[in-house]
Amino acid sequence: MITIKENPNSLITNLYCTYCAEEYSSNDIHTVCKKCGKVLYAKYDLETAKETITRKSIQARSVYNIWRWHEIMPVKEEKFRISLGEGWTPIIQLQNYGKQLSIDNLYIKDEGLNPTGSFKARGLGAAVAKAFEFGLTEFVMPTAGNAGAALTAYTAHIGGKAHIFLPKDAPKFIIKEIEVMGAEIELVDGLISDAGAKAKIEGEKYGWFNMSTLKEPYRIEGKKTMGLELAEQFSWTLPDMIIYPTGGGTGIVGMWKAFDEMEQMGLIDSKRPKMVTVQPSGCQPIVRAFHQGDKFAEPWKDAHSFAAGIRVPGAIADYLILNTLRESKGSAIAVEDSEIRDAMYKMAKTEGTMVAPEAAATVAAAEKLRESNFIDQKDKVVLFITGSGLTTPYDW
Ligand SMILES: *Cc1c(COP(=O)(O)O)cnc(C)c1O
Ligand SMILES: [Zn+2]
Repeated sequence: MITIKENPNSLITNLYCTYCAEEYSSNDIHTVCKKCGKVLYAKYDLETAKETITRKSIQARSVYNIWRWHEIMPVKEEKFRISLGEGWTPIIQLQNYGKQLSIDNLYIKDEGLNPTGSFKARGLGAAVAKAFEFGLTEFVMPTAGNAGAALTAYTAHIGGKAHIFLPKDAPKFIIKEIEVMGAEIELVDGLISDAGAKAKIEGEKYGWFNMSTLKEPYRIEGKKTMGLELAEQFSWTLPDMIIYPTGGGTGIVGMWKAFDEMEQMGLIDSKRPKMVTVQPSGCQPIVRAFHQGDKFAEPWKDAHSFAAGIRVPGAIADYLILNTLRESKGSAIAVEDSEIRDAMYKMAKTEGTMVAPEAAATVAAAEKLRESNFIDQKDKVVLFITGSGLTTPYDW
């Protein structure tokens, strides 16, 4: 019998700026790069990680949440690796819808089954755990809804306090959910960017730690677990294409980081899926920048869409998202709100899955990308169902 070695530690070595490469200690609390204001990433000692992270050892582990690969997660002490059961979501083949579109291998990864009903639980689980390890328990965040619900849940779990700023038209059920879990709520007239400006001012005034998308370095570490799981669940061969509804971009860049780390540890080869961003036609800054060949995305004016989680006019990680799409030979596509709505009903009726509007955008995109032959019949395609339809009123 082979005994599998366990290394109980996090092998985080430091943080580095994804734009100017400046390095920072992972022993101190950081937000964005002090030199250029861009996004910081965590770096790990992957040579040492390789000793205990192998295909075999990972598959033998009994932890089925974001801490399954704890060596390449940022939290150092086991007692701070809190969990509400996020992660290890199923991959399901869409037999009926796949047949309709003539895509032989069409799958979803159903992130709607996470605590609080969206993939946001992975990122905020990691971010709150790391903040807790640093002794922080009071947080502020602007959100379209799902991120606020996830932050509030994990904050309640550590006995802390969350202050959540939402646009006034955020889904009522999610506002209620956040309220019930004990956050202080402020409804803001405007978009998530307006909520963000307000959250920043209030947070600085009262000393609340700001959990805005990619303005702290650890949310993305939770998101990257989607990429780690995908590889393991598909027996260490990545699919040909991943379609992701993109707002702030943590999901797509998080998986891209995971693929890179896995290749460095010898778990996968250099083949990558084509990464495809979907945005609503009423707010598509990344789609426009991708097709114009721009390095950054100009903020979108007069943003509108009922898919609030991807109604994000400007993203701090725009350059990381665009690099990912280009390096992967992927693409970016916009879909109409009416197509998103149709796709929600289609998924419910043909596959028995209630999906959030943001998630339905990937379903609508798959149809268009098949029509244009960007998706080949033989391609193995994964749609990320980032959120559940159960928190959605279906009453427009
Ligand atoms: C937040 C959110 C998104 C967008 O994710 P990003 O990481 O911000 O790109 C997509 N779908 C749902 C359901 C969301 O809540
Ligand atoms: Zn920098």
